[in-house]
Amino acid sequence: MDTRTLLDLDRAHVWHPYAPMPGAVEPFVVESASGVRLRLAEPVAGHRELVDGMSSWWAAIHGYGHPELDEAVRAQLGRMSHVMFGGLTHEPAVRLAARLVEITPEPLQHVFLADSGSVSVEVAVKMCLQYWQSLGRPAKRRLLTWRGGYHGDTFHPMSVCDPDGGMHALWTGVLPQQLFADEPPAGFDAPLDPAYADHLADLIERHADELAAVIVEPVVQGAGGMRFHSPAYLRLLRELCDRHDVLLVFDEIATGFGRTGELFAADHAGLSPDVLCLGKALTGGYLTMAATLCTPRVADGISRGRLPVLAHGPTFMGNPLAAAVANASLDLLLRQDWQVDIKRIETGLRDGLAAAADLPGVRDVRVLGAIGVVQLDHPVDMRAATAAAAEAGVWLRPFRDLIYTMPPYITEDADVARICEGVLAAAQTS
Ligand SMILES: *Cc1c(COP(=O)(O)O)cnc(C)c1O
Repeated sequence: MDTRTLLDLDRAHVWHPYAPMPGAVEPFVVESASGVRLRLAEPVAGHRELVDGMSSWWAAIHGYGHPELDEAVRAQLGRMSHVMFGGLTHEPAVRLAARLVEITPEPLQHVFLADSGSVSVEVAVKMCLQYWQSLGRPAKRRLLTWRGGYHGDTFHPMSVCDPDGGMHALWTGVLPQQLFADEPPAGFDAPLDPAYADHLADLIERHADELAAVIVEPVVQGAGGMRFHSPAYLRLLRELCDRHDVLLVFDEIATGFGRTGELFAADHAGLSPDVLCLGKALTGGYLTMAATLCTPRVADGISRGRLPVLAHGPTFMGNPLAAAVANASLDLLLRQDWQVDIKRIETGLRDGLAAAADLPGVRDVRVLGAIGVVQLDHPVDMRAATAAAAEAGVWLRPFRDLIYTMPPYITEDADVARICEGVLAAAQTS
């Protein structure tokens, strides 16, 4: 199909993420991808290839077309691409679950394999609500989170997304009414703010009787605003949840698998939630799969209920192709000194983005692990910013007032520098 026809059909028929119909901004057509480069069907600003600054939304941590991951999919394809998971099981899924239990914090022991991040959050919420029902406390069915979060686009996850960014006003009467604490104070290294700690303590204490769980993204809030906070607040939440009989859920769909400098963001705080959601980088960006892990306490609670099963079972649960490539991605990650790469990229981002702080219209520049963020003091002009990055040979997808990057872990120093140039160029467009 020639590129013009493809784009016309795309515009006429295909929804894109967070887009109107028909589409307002013409997407780039990607022909193939290899390493950290996206190959376009037609050159943009003279570039046939763009360096990927997004890892396809946190997922492609090993880059594209990695021989080991390709081979894992191929080998699994030769055995079976899918079988139902009800009444059947298979090695790729079992190996993956056991592996996840091994590398995640104690005492997470049980794994529900879901087919997307949003669904894994639905499952996490269902686990928590069902746990309290089973224990004869059905009134405990609300959730508490802090503002600035993002947990997915299906309805229950939406109810704990930032109420402004999540456009809750549009959904009055539809979304469950959850409890919102203020945004956690900014800064990974910032000391614990006692006033904020009191605010959290007060909310949890006052609402303990109706709270099933606290759900947060630990350390890095992703699509809700790319904000970083101190692990001290996670320790505080753990303490408060224990004291007031509330479950603690960590959504590590974005932060899992090394992105923040620890294998899981919870490791910065040295603690475990009762329920953990994983996704995005789980399959190295190859196929859609997510996981919800829980502790024996949660599983036992559910098993003691009137309906002693977790009533959830996606058709493609435990998909063997996805599980096989997830296993290969984990092998690849854990076999190498991934922390060295994250540090190296962190240093590259710090160096390359430092100059952004002096640009007019820039409010903040922050870097943590392999995540770099330039926050403007005004909304970004997405079309102009994307075009400016492309002119620098870089693929970025800014949103709101944020131009940000989370490159694949294999990104070499020169390409990290290139990505930073793209971010700087994008920051200067408006
Ligand atoms: C992306 C994301 C989700 C949703 O995952 P999908 O696979 O897009 O449904 C949920 N929580 C966080 C923190 C995310 O970054």
